[in-house]
Amino acid sequence: MQKVKLPISVDSVRAANNRLELDASLDKALLSRLRESTNSIHSDIDVYFSFEVDQQRLRIFHGKASVAVELTCQRCNEPMIYQCEAEFTYCPVLNEEQENNLPDVYEPIYYDENGEVNLHQIVEDELLLTLPQIAMHAIEDCQYSDYESSFGEIEEEQQRPNPFDALAQLKLK
Ligand SMILES: [Zn+2]
Repeated sequence: MQKVKLPISVDSVRAANNRLELDASLDKALLSRLRESTNSIHSDIDVYFSFEVDQQRLRIFHGKASVAVELTCQRCNEPMIYQCEAEFTYCPVLNEEQENNLPDVYEPIYYDENGEVNLHQIVEDELLLTLPQIAMHAIEDCQYSDYESSFGEIEEEQQRPNPFDALAQLKLK
């Protein structure tokens, strides 16, 4: 089945009342911030949203987004594939009072004057949050570690100066 294109925004109240489910794809060309934070985005983004009314009659939605991106390994400087998997639950709110009354389990998100939440922005924000602070290959896939282990990993480990030693000495002075 062909996936629908993710709408830019939806009326979150109506979507919740209708128990709207979206199994959609989002054009990678639309995610300029994710593009700038990575070497490249491998494919369009797989997205799933489900809107519902919870037991406290709060209108909420759950979502998932996944896509592979290319990053640069900070250890060996070679490209690496990173699989972004985001999962989130939001409760759309109108104002600060509603936000403050939310149960802790829900992340508030403001809807606009038309009652709409921006799904594209949510997906991009959530994917950006999954990116590692420092991108690195798994040790067995890293070029640098291949080089290291060919010289005997344990020896190298012991010879390498520990940056914390230098720090400790600085503190002693
Ligand atoms: Zn590497």
